[in-house]
Formats: sequence, C-alpha cells, structure tokens
Amino acid sequence: MTESTPEPRSVLVTGGNRGIGRSIAEEFLRCGDKVAVTSRSGTGGPEGALTVAADVTDGDSLTAAIKAVEAENGPIEVLVANAGITDDQLLLRMSDESFETVLDTNLTGAFRTVQRVIKSMVRKKKGRIVLISSVVGLYGSPGQVNYAASKSGLVGIARALTRELGSRGITANVVAPGYIDTEMTQQLSEDLQDSYRKAIPAGRFADPEEVARVVAFVASDDAAYISGAVIPVDGGLGMGH
Ligand code: NDP
Repeated sequence: MTESTPEPRSVLVTGGNRGIGRSIAEEFLRCGDKVAVTSRSGTGGPEGALTVAADVTDGDSLTAAIKAVEAENGPIEVLVANAGITDDQLLLRMSDESFETVLDTNLTGAFRTVQRVIKSMVRKKKGRIVLISSVVGLYGSPGQVNYAASKSGLVGIARALTRELGSRGITANVVAPGYIDTEMTQQLSEDLQDSYRKAIPAGRFADPEEVARVVAFVASDDAAYISGAVIPVDGGLGMGH
C-alpha cells in the first residue's frame, strides 16, 4: 500500500521575510504547503512563498493581507504569529510608549492576527495556531519588562484559545525559543552574547532552522493532541519554567 501524500495546507507566517519567520516559511515550503508570509514592505519573502504587506499594529492592513492570502491560497489552516520586536530598557528608564509599542506589536498583534484567521478554522473544524514567544516570557530578563510581558501574554492567548476551541479540531501552542542567531541577537554586544552563551546549558545559540522544524511538527497532524503547551527551543536555558 502506498502512503497518501498530505494535501498542501494554506500557511501564513507573520514576519516571514527574515530571521526565524523566514526559516519557518522555508520549512513549510519544504513540506509542500502553500505558504504566505507578511512583511511590512510587502516584499522579501522566500522564493515560492506569497509575500503580502501587513503591519500587525494595524488591523486594517492585516485584514487586507489575509484577504489576499485566502484569495490566492485558500482559507488559512496554519497560522504562525511570529512578528515581533524588542525595545530594551531598564524599568526605571522605560517609557510608557516603549512598553505600549512592544505590547501592541508582540501581543495585540498576535491577537489581531489570530482573530482574523480563526473563523475559517472553526468552519473547517481544523486549524493550527503557533505563537512565537521567547524563553524570556517565563524566565524573565533584566531590561525586558515590556518584551517579557508581551511574550508571557501569548501563553494566556494559547491556553484560553485551547479551552475555547479545543473541541473544534484547533490547537493553539506557544513555541518559546531561547537565543537564536538572527538580526535581533546580532544587535547585542559581543560581551553580552558571550555571557548569554555561558548561561545556556547547550553552550551555543541556535540556528533559526532548529526553531522552524519544531514549529512544523507542532503544526503537523501528528501533534493533534498537543494544545496549550509551551514548547521550549532554548538549549535548556529556561528549564523548569
Ligand atoms: P527579526 O528582527 O530578525 O525579524 C522580525 C520580524 O518581525 C521581521 O519579519 C519584521 O518585519 C517583523 N515585524 C516587526 N514588527 C512588525 C510589525 N509591526 N508588523 C509586522 N511585522 C513586524 O526577529 P527574529 O527572527 O529574531 O524574531 C522572530 C520572532 O522570534 C520574534 O517574535 C521574536 O521575539 C522571537 N524570538 C527571537 C529570538 C532570537 O533569539 N532571535 C529568541 C526568542 C524569540 P519587517 O522586516 O517588515 O520589519
């Protein structure tokens, strides 16, 4: 008996033009899925993916982007909410604006995106929501009160969603990367990067592909019974959290 090839799914990755999001999009392309990515410019996604413009802080731009993706690839069956920023500052120096901008992008941005794709998942009784958080969400990190709050908030979204829609064939999980070699971490000073490496049991940063493969698994049929989970990809840094 020959194994049947799974149907290509309509996958959307926000912030899929670079870094971890781009690797995730490439991994779904390798799996044979129909992949769309967002970037703020509307360009720069990997070859073979549809790139659409969206700013996750702007609901109207997300609505338009999702409409364009669904017209081309069909209703979204897998959403990876990956777009995110940092704006580090010790608490005493952190402005309201910095806190609000990071929350608006990382947390409210994920909410806006999930809300706009969920209706068709409910209709189909099938869907995968993967929220890209961070080890920092539950472990904490000095200078990242805004970022940590936004990333731990994603756990609340995944768990509330799991209780709301778990019986409809939809899973919602959080993938929590540790330090990954991307532009976000390359901005850190060499000294800081060295001190982080010393704290990581694996003794190194990860490649974005190591996160991408875990995301692809969480979005697969084999992961149908995993929901509301926080899956670390952090070389052991956040153990026990
Ligand atoms: P990068 O800085 O390399 O890429 C960030 C991505 O997010 C870009 O595609 C960017 O789009 C997009 N983005 C930022 N702001 C917005 C916005 N307002 N609207 C739409 N898209 C936006 O980041 P990484 O690849 O390193 O990180 C990806 C995710 O992984 C983030 O959520 C981050 O918090 C998380 N993470 C990263 C870790 C790391 O070590 N690198 C560790 C743990 C978590 P554009 O190009 O248009 O600006």
